[in-house]
Amino acid sequence: MTTSSLLEEAISISKQFDISKDQLVAISDEFIRLTDLGLKSDGMPMTMIPSYVTGVPNGTEKGTFLAVDLGGTNFRVCSIHLNGDGTFDLLQTKSVIPRSLMVGTAKELFSFLAKKVEEFIKTHLEEKFNEELGHSANEHIYKLGFTFSFPVNQTAINRGRLIRWTKGFDVADAVGKDVCLLLQHELDLLNLPVHVAALVNDTVGTLMSRSYSSPGESVTLLGVILGTGTNGAYTESLAAVDKLDKPTAALADKSIMVINTEWGSFDNDMKVLPRTSWDDAVDLETPNPGYQMFEKRVSGMFLGEILRRILLELHEKGHLFSRSSTPLTTAWSLDTSILSRVEADITPDLVAVKSIVETDLGLPTTLPERQAVKLIVEGIGKRSALLAGAVIGGILVHLKACQSNPVVDIGVDGSVFEFYPGYEDLMRVALRDVIGEDEKKIRIGIAKDGSGVGAALCALVA
Ligand code: ADP
Repeated sequence: MTTSSLLEEAISISKQFDISKDQLVAISDEFIRLTDLGLKSDGMPMTMIPSYVTGVPNGTEKGTFLAVDLGGTNFRVCSIHLNGDGTFDLLQTKSVIPRSLMVGTAKELFSFLAKKVEEFIKTHLEEKFNEELGHSANEHIYKLGFTFSFPVNQTAINRGRLIRWTKGFDVADAVGKDVCLLLQHELDLLNLPVHVAALVNDTVGTLMSRSYSSPGESVTLLGVILGTGTNGAYTESLAAVDKLDKPTAALADKSIMVINTEWGSFDNDMKVLPRTSWDDAVDLETPNPGYQMFEKRVSGMFLGEILRRILLELHEKGHLFSRSSTPLTTAWSLDTSILSRVEADITPDLVAVKSIVETDLGLPTTLPERQAVKLIVEGIGKRSALLAGAVIGGILVHLKACQSNPVVDIGVDGSVFEFYPGYEDLMRVALRDVIGEDEKKIRIGIAKDGSGVGAALCALVA
């Protein structure tokens, strides 16, 4: 293939990832429509899960809390001391969950978790208490925030029944049970001075953590995850959450509630989301074709695979790479960090791209081939950021956030946002398309240690 026709083909592929202003507005409008529906009743396309968190911090909060995080292969236990000035001290331990416990009984799993909390208290907190306060840690009751990243049916801030396991867990007798009660029971058997005060989704934790550490006393309206997956949580007026039985005593004097949108599954019907043949191919490779369609265009788990699919197709047509390689032909072999590194290369000869393709794909390249790879990567990355910006814009329109706030603060966690070159700038392009000049009022910041600090803050407000 000639150099110019390879580049023309790459440009035409990249164009298939373009999204016009009109499309971004249509995406945002549809997002707002599904947001409204999800707040009204259960079983709607966007789940809009009430978190039972009814306040967000402003940075002046103080105290010491425990937090645990069960979300995948690791179990983390930490203590968080909030200093009351937007800063905190965090102490953390991490243990791998033995494979046998991921598929064993609820008793085995939750007693293991409780023992890890006991070890943490004995190692890190008892001594401190004895020294500093002259009494034992057992005389203090710790509030604990439980970050649990599996689908639960939450009915109170510290009550939630497990709907199903994901990510390789299969502890059958825990399904349908309240995971806070399972943990509390095992902590009580060990006589630990710990109260499971809040069950926390990681995106809610991100919102809380950013709100605590954001500059000044302003509160954060939106927490966003852009890592392996993508999701968003925001503060909603309690009156708008029609599907909640509000006259419960716990909610009587509350005015807001944090909502976990579960926006990864936005537009599974594909009414407005862009679609290429490579998106369809990647979707079919997943265990849940037809679901999480927004996430499959935006988050880190999928961008590398979209790129691999395109490169493989070009190679099979005889248009790219003089030979094949195992990473090129193996599903899920390209990490999304490759796209970041390719984007970052601004040398005329694309020397970094040369070494990336050599190392990660095991393939030699010509300069036109590297230029083609870069053009395609730019298309995939830009589309991800624009889509993220469009739904963030949708939430801000829904909240009329820019009309009522001089600064609108958003907290984000995840490697895609943190490391992808120019990601925030592209998100802002979509935000301008959706909300216009008000985009200038938006302040976006990283929420560090969201799951620990966020869970502690949920325990505090519980
Ligand atoms: P998690 O979401 O699992 O808590 P991260 O926020 O680190 O963890 O996100 C991991 C995802 O981010 C993976 O899909 C990975 O491919 C992607 N990723 C890791 N590093 C980068 C990077 N430098 N640029 C873009 N994506 C990255």
